[in-house]
Amino acid sequence: MSNKSLKQHLLLNNSSVAIIGAGASGLLSAIILGRAKFNVTVFERNTKVGRKILTTGNGKCNISNINISSLNYYCHDNTLINHVLKQFNFKKCQELFEELGLDFYIQEDGKAYPQTLQASSVVDVLYYEAKRVGVTFVLNTTIENINYQDNKFTFSSEDNIQSFDKLIVATGSKAMPKLGSCDIGYNIAKDFGHDIVEPFASLVQLVSDNIHIKELSGVKINAKIILEIDKEHIQTRQGDLLFTNYGLSGNTILDISRDSSYALSIGSLVTVKLDIFPQFNKDVLISKLTKRVKNSYNKDKYFWLEGFLHKKLIRYIIDNCGLRNGIVTANEINKKDIMTIVHFIKNIKINIIDTKGFDTAEVCAGGVNIYEIKTKSLESTIQKELYFVGEVLDIDGQCGGYNLHWAWASAFVCANNIVNHRR
Ligand SMILES: Cc1cc2nc3c(=O)[nH]c(=O)nc-3n(C[C@H](O)[C@H](O)[C@H](O)COP(=O)(O)OP(=O)(O)OC[C@H]3O[C@@H](n4cnc5c(N)ncnc54)[C@H](O)[C@@H]3O)c2cc1C
Repeated sequence: MSNKSLKQHLLLNNSSVAIIGAGASGLLSAIILGRAKFNVTVFERNTKVGRKILTTGNGKCNISNINISSLNYYCHDNTLINHVLKQFNFKKCQELFEELGLDFYIQEDGKAYPQTLQASSVVDVLYYEAKRVGVTFVLNTTIENINYQDNKFTFSSEDNIQSFDKLIVATGSKAMPKLGSCDIGYNIAKDFGHDIVEPFASLVQLVSDNIHIKELSGVKINAKIILEIDKEHIQTRQGDLLFTNYGLSGNTILDISRDSSYALSIGSLVTVKLDIFPQFNKDVLISKLTKRVKNSYNKDKYFWLEGFLHKKLIRYIIDNCGLRNGIVTANEINKKDIMTIVHFIKNIKINIIDTKGFDTAEVCAGGVNIYEIKTKSLESTIQKELYFVGEVLDIDGQCGGYNLHWAWASAFVCANNIVNHRR
């Protein structure tokens, strides 16, 4: 080895990086740094890497989205997101994964998945590459209580004191603790003087105090949903809705859950108004029901809508819409009764009293305050050589592949910046 390359070799070997968390952002950071010959060690509290990735997209992993922009994210300031997405857009994401051997399948709505539709493919290609480029993994190990002394981050692991030149916190958020999530990442940030924007559950199911909703448990429909907070219209969505024994779930509910969750956390009144037949306007629905009544002869009041609505919905509507007492058969239903039924179908009000919380939330809003993070490097403005990537930051995305994209993108920008500024 020549003197120059020996010097370079020793220099490179001296650059040690600890990454806490072998999730989406930790694995990608490790690969980029490992490829650049940094001495990388990833610490993971689970016994396996990428456990959360395996559950994403119902096991299919909605890895990114072709329509990605900063509009898909919630954050107090878009400067950081814009910078990161400019460096790592959808095309870059697809190229990076293709280079790892993972082809994309892109749905018509823009959501991207691995072509295999298996989240395990994503974890496998990432883990393989990280190992190939020499990354060391220390699994089943929870890291906390980190000190910074003599230009080194020091903590204990496997009964040893370990020290590193740089530290990347890729611990994710508090969402879904059974997958390894916890608040240690926030505590590490706090220990170094960082402000934490109070985390709250997002992309989460909503809980109602409506006692009749249990009767609808398991019914899945296409519905129009209006979210009202303190009686003010906040947003309207249309799509999948699932009634459950605690309240409401489904993609549309996840979409409105962030606003609901925040409103509940500050004591606001949250109401969801459902139109459970959005495909027909009021007049069409009235004429359809009028025709049904005419042709129903002596059908029972619970049977004349059979074949038109889900069985559980029929009973729920007839019992709760405010129909006159004493009606037994459909031929007793008059024009006014039909108006009452149609009004109910298009305006079912469900009070929301809570969310299912961090236990089932897909992501967390809140986290490490981005005003204390450098835009170009994701380095702390408080502690040099300390970096934060992924969901531990106060940035969360909508449903649709945006949260994983943020994990990949922030890791990409952070790790490449470390490589490019190697001393
Ligand atoms: C059920 C579910 C489905 C989802 N589906 C999608 C989807 O289809 N598309 C999408 O874009 N997003 C989805 N998400 C969100 C997405 O998974 C996360 O936003 C993303 O994984 C965040 O990446 P991360 O690297 O920041 O954190 P994570 O992937 O959560 O990784 C953090 C890792 O750090 C480890 N860790 C934490 N603290 C410590 C510590 N002190 N010491 C050692 N290890 C530690 C954890 O065990 C974990 O493995 C889903 C989330 C859930 C829960």
